[in-house]
Amino acid sequence: MRNDILILKYGEVVMKGLNRSYFDSLIIRRVKQLLAECDGSFKLDYSQSTLMIQGDDDADMEDAAERMKRVFGIAAVCRAWQCEKSLEAIQATVAEHIDELIGDAKTFKCDGRRSDKSFPLTSPALSAEVGGTVLSLKPYLKVDVKNPDVVVRLEVRDKYAAVHGGGEKGAGGMPVGSAGHGMLLLSGGIDSPVAGFLMAKRGLTLDALYFDSPPYTGEAAMEKVETLAKKLCAYCGRIFLHTISLTEIQETLMSVCDERLFTVLLRRFMMRLAEMQALDVGAAALITGESLGQVASQTLMALSITNSVPEVLPVFRPCIAMDKEDIVQISRQIDTFETSILPYEDCCTVFVPKHPNTRPTMERILEEEAKLDIEGLCKRAFETRRHKKIMG
Ligand code: ATP
Ligand code: MG
Repeated sequence: MRNDILILKYGEVVMKGLNRSYFDSLIIRRVKQLLAECDGSFKLDYSQSTLMIQGDDDADMEDAAERMKRVFGIAAVCRAWQCEKSLEAIQATVAEHIDELIGDAKTFKCDGRRSDKSFPLTSPALSAEVGGTVLSLKPYLKVDVKNPDVVVRLEVRDKYAAVHGGGEKGAGGMPVGSAGHGMLLLSGGIDSPVAGFLMAKRGLTLDALYFDSPPYTGEAAMEKVETLAKKLCAYCGRIFLHTISLTEIQETLMSVCDERLFTVLLRRFMMRLAEMQALDVGAAALITGESLGQVASQTLMALSITNSVPEVLPVFRPCIAMDKEDIVQISRQIDTFETSILPYEDCCTVFVPKHPNTRPTMERILEEEAKLDIEGLCKRAFETRRHKKIMG
């Protein structure tokens, strides 16, 4: 029977009060979904804000550990060795794995934690005893309690003891679904997948909405958005991807309205349709990848004109205060960057005004919109809706 296990440490959810078990159940559901995709079968044991995962002999623990780093709500993922709750068993486990625990470190310390107070040794005594074992096996090592190269961690828990070399950082945040349901306006760009990731991290399940513009935009652009949605699914589970065509709206704006206001007028249509779509599927927030000042349609004035469209839903813009460089860094981390930079046309790049107005006024926008049958345009665009379920 193998004794290597995964220990998942919960993050912010541990501060939850009465509805704590609801948060826990969402984490466990997500963990089970991801483990179902790994080779082998797994057993879970939850206690003391920690989830322990045991694999059978066929289990791919390496793959499982990687996947667990994408579970929102988990602060740290430790690969550990489990043993009986006795000093001898802990010492034997440390001895068995001494090379993996110490590597090429020159200094170390043992950090014993006894959460089972009936264990006969106190935490400091346990650390000292096992420290002695380590020194007897690797006599060249020095103990350094302040700044050691490695920390050998010894956990004595309710049901078992475990030894490990410290955890890797988990995805953090709150479990997917714990905060409700949002509609992500997902373009093929860099920013919107990052915005979706950040809101999913705070506990939203995502639906995504992509606006295309056939025949000006093609299959390749659509596939790119599907790939981005799929990459987000690695963190947030399934995503329903909805597509709405903006062709008639864009052609009408081009022929009827002041070209310099085209982008902001179009963005207001996107918001109208996004709110309709969100309400239709029960999503309670819109999410965009806008960042203050990044482009002409994201000046404060343009944003407030766009922001005034949704009548009931809040618009979350988690990238609003981020530099492009910071957004790119997250997009690399979640593996959307390489897809986002593929050069396919987007509905926004099809008709681009030569001189966009960076200081549009609400008055001018309303004048232009008065020329349009907004309700009819939205209704017909809404009828072009298509849906696809994307899985991780
Ligand atoms: P991104 O990198 O996310 O495409 P961007 O910097 O290109 O953003 P804009 O094109 O002004 O900025 O779009 C701002 C936001 O509007 C996007 O982040 C996205 O949320 C939404 N959006 C833009 N185009 C589309 C589209 N074709 N379909 C769905 N949402 C879109
Ligand atoms: Mg874009």
